[in-house]
Amino acid sequence: MVTRVAIVGAGPSGLAQLHAFEQARAGGAEIPELVCFEKQDDWGGLWNYTWRSGLDQYGNPCHGSMYRYLWSNGPKECLEFSDYTFEQHFGTAIPSFPPREVLYDYIKGRAEASDVRRHIRFDTAVRWIEYDPARETFDVTVEALAEGASRVEQFDHVIVATGHFSVPNVPDFPGFDRFPGRILHSHDFRDAQEFAGRDLLVVGGSYSAEDIALQAKKYGANSVTISYRTAPMGFPWPDGIAEVPLLSRLEGRTAHFADGSARDVDAIILCTGYQHHFPFVASDLRLRTANVLYPPDLYKGVFWTDNPKMMYLGMQDQFYTFTLFDAEAWVARDFVLGRLELPSREEMEKDVAEWRAREEALPDAFAQIDFQADHIADLMALTDYPAFDLDLTRAHFKKWEHDKEESIIGYRDRGFSSPCTGTPAPIHHTLWWEAHDDSLTTFLRTGHPA
Ligand SMILES: Cc1cc2nc3c(=O)[nH]c(=O)nc-3n(C[C@H](O)[C@H](O)[C@H](O)COP(=O)(O)OP(=O)(O)OC[C@H]3O[C@@H](n4cnc5c(N)ncnc54)[C@H](O)[C@@H]3O)c2cc1C
Repeated sequence: MVTRVAIVGAGPSGLAQLHAFEQARAGGAEIPELVCFEKQDDWGGLWNYTWRSGLDQYGNPCHGSMYRYLWSNGPKECLEFSDYTFEQHFGTAIPSFPPREVLYDYIKGRAEASDVRRHIRFDTAVRWIEYDPARETFDVTVEALAEGASRVEQFDHVIVATGHFSVPNVPDFPGFDRFPGRILHSHDFRDAQEFAGRDLLVVGGSYSAEDIALQAKKYGANSVTISYRTAPMGFPWPDGIAEVPLLSRLEGRTAHFADGSARDVDAIILCTGYQHHFPFVASDLRLRTANVLYPPDLYKGVFWTDNPKMMYLGMQDQFYTFTLFDAEAWVARDFVLGRLELPSREEMEKDVAEWRAREEALPDAFAQIDFQADHIADLMALTDYPAFDLDLTRAHFKKWEHDKEESIIGYRDRGFSSPCTGTPAPIHHTLWWEAHDDSLTTFLRTGHPA
């Protein structure tokens, strides 16, 4: 009987999974029937930018959280596919911090080269996944969104790759209900130009707050106030951006903060994070976790310990992204192909508990980077994902952290060397703070602005 594998989501994680199987096929292996369900009409996940927010064309919550003018916030060298380098894709070395469209092009390039599109059913949402112990298969209920038709299919393995930066955490604050301006979550933020000339309040203390505050200022906001809950990010902000403690209440358009200070604001963006949300997974298979580097109940960060035929990809909080997804996908593939045996449930749980305990004790971001790199090394030791210089990427991430502390508007103007080819990245022709055009054509143009 043919083994059937369901892959849910055709973002970078789901595409990594399809590619991993195609690589095995190219190496002569017989691979199972693959069916990837993607609820959007194209691939790329978050990198497939949409202007839509709120509901999509089918009335379902819109997946996209990316916004215009988004540039990679980490060096691209730390996410480079070791079997499909940036140089190979673009035919030349490119700068280290590309805008979204460039990274999207790169993701698509590898997926096209390994011809995985034929496995994907677009505009098809997975509505329910449950395990049938009698048949030892999963019943997967899917809905073809354009037709509104649902059906149930059986699979031997299920790999959930639906991401976890789509369903917002939305806190409430006293006075929100009477605020005379716009309040939105970063999930619905699309274009910073909307806030030109305005006084903006950004609530949050992590990557989204940092980047959206900078975007807003770069595209003309009058002022940006960032309100943090636990600690300020503490970067050397440009004029017009300031950090204050937690918002306590709003009175009209006046925001009051925990330190007694107050500011008048025109709009509020909640950069308050996302939920791991899997309403389409039966409760005995459903991952429940905060945004951590090593979620509970997932052996190697992938296998649901209670039933390892159920797998999750990319569920970690992320320093590393595409490289981590690849290593996970290779390991998941090898398990499906029978190349990798898993230990007993007790041993898997013990292993997860050790990683969890180690994560809890991590003192700072540098230790977190090493922890996630160690996780990748642990995965790579189990499979044949092509080697790259993982230690160089650790060093790159640490340098990047220092660069950000030195200049939050200038860190993207640096170049790093490839952990796959060793080639140093050229410096971009325009300083990031002055680059308003984020198109692929402009980014790839060499030389200086005319
Ligand atoms: C604003 C923002 C900026 C970011 N910037 C960077 C960056 O600069 N560099 C970086 O490396 N990473 C960045 N990330 C991290 C990002 O998580 C990863 O780069 C990557 O997109 C994760 O891939 P994924 O495939 O796991 O998830 P996603 O990209 O979220 O893809 C998941 C896919 O699953 C589909 N799906 C979901 N539910 C279902 C369902 N029930 N049925 C069928 N299909 C479904 C979705 O439509 C989507 O296509 C950013 C994230 C955000 C939100």
